[in-house]
Amino acid sequence: MSLQEWSFVIIVAFAALMVMLEKLFPYTKGQKIFREGFFNDMVLYTIVQSYVLGLIIFGFLNYVKSHTNLYNYSLLDSWPVWVQVVVLVVVHDFYIYWFHRWQHNNKVLWRIHEAHHSPRSVDWLSGSRSHSLEILINQTVEFAPIILLGASPEVAIYKGMISAMWGMFIHSNIDVRLGKLQYFINGPEMHRWHHSDEGGREYQNNYSTKFAIWDWIFGTAFFPDPKARKPQLYGLRDTPDFPLSVDGIDDTGRISSYLKVAWHDTVSYVKQHAFAFRKFRKP
Ligand SMILES: [Zn+2]
Ligand SMILES: [Zn+2]
Repeated sequence: MSLQEWSFVIIVAFAALMVMLEKLFPYTKGQKIFREGFFNDMVLYTIVQSYVLGLIIFGFLNYVKSHTNLYNYSLLDSWPVWVQVVVLVVVHDFYIYWFHRWQHNNKVLWRIHEAHHSPRSVDWLSGSRSHSLEILINQTVEFAPIILLGASPEVAIYKGMISAMWGMFIHSNIDVRLGKLQYFINGPEMHRWHHSDEGGREYQNNYSTKFAIWDWIFGTAFFPDPKARKPQLYGLRDTPDFPLSVDGIDDTGRISSYLKVAWHDTVSYVKQHAFAFRKFRKP
């Protein structure tokens, strides 16, 4: 099997592990697997959108590389592959901390981040719900140095795999306790607070994706004792008209009920994209 095929198998196996651990050790009890937007997040955001944006981003970067002399560097491929992966993961994660923080503090950038905060059930899959413009920006920045600075070709695959698995982990509904590791490695204990919607401003904290250390260094960590307090509500209460889909599949098990959900989710995917371009209300 090729490395790409292996990475696909590993990602699917990791997703299955997340689902199993969510069932065994739920962080928020009573969450359903087939909740609002399951089809939307799985088929439209994770498969279709990722595939199409991947073609656009890699097509663009390869075009820039082959049609200009600016980026014919070969700076990274003399390093061992694992060093390239570690350096690029850390550098991109530092960027994403600041870009994410900026999105929460800029009304235009917030528009392309709202979708990510819209799920009312946060689980292994919900993190995939991100506006395509947000992904376009972040993944172009993520993969530009790999293509343009001449990293080894397998680095993009390793990096894609790490991002997919880490994204599932930090959103997962698993009651994992990282202890002191939570100062360095990000996990659901802190990121689920970032998605909470309790009327406070909890989500104006915990901007880190892979390394929680950025939040601790730059003063944006929010980490109450998980034994004493956990978030109870997730989503966007400040934006009640955000276009969500229907809540779960009815238990009749009929094909028509699945088709109905697929239709609603497809409509909500389109609406969620269009919603980012609504007019700003005057204060
Ligand atoms: Zn956020
Ligand atoms: Zn998130």
